[in-house]
Amino acid sequence: MSALAQEYNAINLAQGFPNFHIDVQLQNALVAAANSNAHQYAPMAGLAELREEIVRLVARQYHRNITLNDILITAGATQAIFTTIQALVHSGDEVLILDPSYDCYESPVILSGAKPIRLPLKFDFKPNWDLINSKVSTKTRLLLINNPHNPSGTIWDEADFIALEKLMAAHPQLLLLSDEVYEFIAFEEHQSIHQRSALRDRAIIISSFGKTFHITGWKIGYLVCPPEIMVEIQKVHQFLVFSVNSIAQLALASYLKEIDINKLKIFYQEKRDFFRAQLESSRFELYPAQGSYFQLASYAHISDEPDTDFCIRLTKENGVAAIPLSVFNANGEDRKLVRFCYAKTNETLQLALDRLCKI
Ligand code: PMP
Repeated sequence: MSALAQEYNAINLAQGFPNFHIDVQLQNALVAAANSNAHQYAPMAGLAELREEIVRLVARQYHRNITLNDILITAGATQAIFTTIQALVHSGDEVLILDPSYDCYESPVILSGAKPIRLPLKFDFKPNWDLINSKVSTKTRLLLINNPHNPSGTIWDEADFIALEKLMAAHPQLLLLSDEVYEFIAFEEHQSIHQRSALRDRAIIISSFGKTFHITGWKIGYLVCPPEIMVEIQKVHQFLVFSVNSIAQLALASYLKEIDINKLKIFYQEKRDFFRAQLESSRFELYPAQGSYFQLASYAHISDEPDTDFCIRLTKENGVAAIPLSVFNANGEDRKLVRFCYAKTNETLQLALDRLCKI
């Protein structure tokens, strides 16, 4: 969709990346790091300075005490997910993925010789626990969850965590991969697996500085997991990337000391409200947007064509690119929904809104 957006000079609300400038403080931290002597390999697990800041962050946000050894700095969440799956999942295992799902989950499962089992979320994009329970067997090695959720923007309820705790208690071989890359972009209370003592010792929790600080191009994130799992994950990490960009790590370590991470949700909430307020008067029907920087909208009142065709036409004829939701579903289910990314300047959003409100 991004290539098509470029070809037709459309406003790109498709791919999930911000188009505004990064915080000058972070830019300055990067310059300072580049001017320092941080140009050689960082330690495999990541710079101690950065991991110390993550220890503090997790303690502040979630009241959980972790140690430096529980953290691995990765080349973005994508590498964290790939590495985790390669390390923990083997031929003959099954991995549960909840659809609609982000596209980097399934391929590493297939590459490791295991079987991805893709299960639809409920109509409201919350987990269907009856279905999940019915699909877990002794072969199931990993359950992959994503909260706040891309593409739907939903956030789990307490009842979901309780259901998950029951499931994990009933299946001692099962591990949990919790993709929390949008943990700081939550407009309702986001509970992290860090806060669930019954789950966190069997979980790999993944975050992305790309999402948190509008630096998707830096490709840097981290995972947190218990030591016995970390040993296995590091065996893969060592030969996949060995260690992550030293300058980016140093810059983030000093930036994390200076900022209030909780301001991020206020920043995005303003964008969400700005985008929604005008789109509400259009013929699109809006879904709730509780977290992440995506807004789902139904175009059922506009057209009954397949969502992929609609998105191509929207790009070519109306000059706005969005993502059709069916591409996130293994079964191709098409509910006439599109995903807009509102991590854009207000000027870009306004231009897109002017076009969308005319349809
Ligand atoms: N998980 C989800 C749910 C995402 O939306 C993304 C990025 N679009 C990632 C993981 C990958 O993050 P990163 O850019 O840090 O690799």
